[in-house]
Amino acid sequence: MKNNVLIVGGGMVGAAAAVELARQGCQVTIIENNPIEASAILGGDQVDIRVSAINRFSEALLDKLGAMPLIRASRHAPYHQLEAYEQNSEHLLFDKDEVSASHLGHLVENNIIQAALWAQFEAHMINVVKVSDAPIAVEQHLSSIELVYPEQRFSADLLIAADGGRSQLRSLSGIGVTGWQYQQHCMGILIKLDAPQQVKTWQEFKPTGPIAFLPMQAPYANLIWYHHSSELKRLQGLSKAELKEAVLEHFFELPGDFEIEHSAVFPLARQHANQYSIGRLVLVGDAAHTINPLAGQGVNLGFKDVAALGGCLLGCDDVGELARLHQYEKMRRKDNLLMMSMMDACYFGFSNELKPLKSLRSLALKLANNAGPLKREVLKHAMGGSF
Ligand SMILES: Cc1cc2nc3c(=O)[nH]c(=O)nc-3n(C[C@H](O)[C@H](O)[C@H](O)COP(=O)(O)OP(=O)(O)OC[C@H]3O[C@@H](n4cnc5c(N)ncnc54)[C@H](O)[C@@H]3O)c2cc1C
Repeated sequence: MKNNVLIVGGGMVGAAAAVELARQGCQVTIIENNPIEASAILGGDQVDIRVSAINRFSEALLDKLGAMPLIRASRHAPYHQLEAYEQNSEHLLFDKDEVSASHLGHLVENNIIQAALWAQFEAHMINVVKVSDAPIAVEQHLSSIELVYPEQRFSADLLIAADGGRSQLRSLSGIGVTGWQYQQHCMGILIKLDAPQQVKTWQEFKPTGPIAFLPMQAPYANLIWYHHSSELKRLQGLSKAELKEAVLEHFFELPGDFEIEHSAVFPLARQHANQYSIGRLVLVGDAAHTINPLAGQGVNLGFKDVAALGGCLLGCDDVGELARLHQYEKMRRKDNLLMMSMMDACYFGFSNELKPLKSLRSLALKLANNAGPLKREVLKHAMGGSF
């Protein structure tokens, strides 16, 4: 008999998990609060302010799942260079040619990635269910698991929590988290740029926090601005013309004139679930780990979770088998923790003006930029390792 998998959350990671497991022969149902119309998003001209830098590992997974061709046919921007620097200091530049690659990754709107995955659902007979209530209990049995709502219940062999950083399934199952809320928030600003297609993404470290430029398919681009929440609140209260003035005072290296389209402020949190599974429930994506978006790794880690979980469950009789779910956690926890810690080292190391640290940072950037084989290894890691 087919293994029965229930996934709560059809965001980018939950949708990828659904397609991966359906391809392996599981009967998959997704419960999603906000179901989407994939064809309307893929064929539409509404630009999403949420953008993800998809690395080469994620690209390979999305190709395998059938989503990447739809992304390539929709809006996307391959990037060739990635630069990090401090004003009046050394630059660290990664270039596709250093690893003989055609590109380092793609910048894609989140809803295009999600829609390209949802477009696979029909072919794989993945059911989508919208439930308006919040779940009230997770009941574990020897050979099944049940998710309980006030007026209905769902039974499955495996329950996957892909319901994001504030996962209700994680709390209902009693899985705690360790982490913190950063003092800062970050603002995403969607701009329409009067410049040819850009292929370099850059990040500048300022004492007030990093700022970044993410090229999207021309004429769009995304600006990321870290600051204290009070300052971002003030910026949000400005008119588009005033916000443009503020951007021009901070973002010196923009490649042309621009118009502000939208802006949105996101809280920043670091959060790691104390365990990735309990009984027949398993966590993936932001439900398991929320990372500082500094180097754009969040969804890439989520896609690695999906690939690892898929690998662990491949060919098994019972997808809820404890040993397989523990093996998944073993494969993913260390990697996720390493990436979270690396992001924090960069974030805290660069967000201050202490003189000795500034000299050390300058030296570190210079050494890193001239590090040859080591630099190539770091770059390969950022691209997602083996793919
Ligand atoms: C400013 C910012 C920039 C970022 N940039 C990047 C980047 O460049 N690259 C990158 O890799 N990552 C980036 N990230 C991180 C990335 O956005 C997240 O890691 C990613 O969205 C996580 O996907 P997910 O599917 O796990 O969770 P989510 O995207 O949170 O999706 C969860 C889904 O579950 C649904 N849901 C929630 N609760 C329920 C419920 N009870 N019942 C039914 N459905 C439910 C929601 O509607 C949603 O669809 C960034 C994050 C931020 C904040």
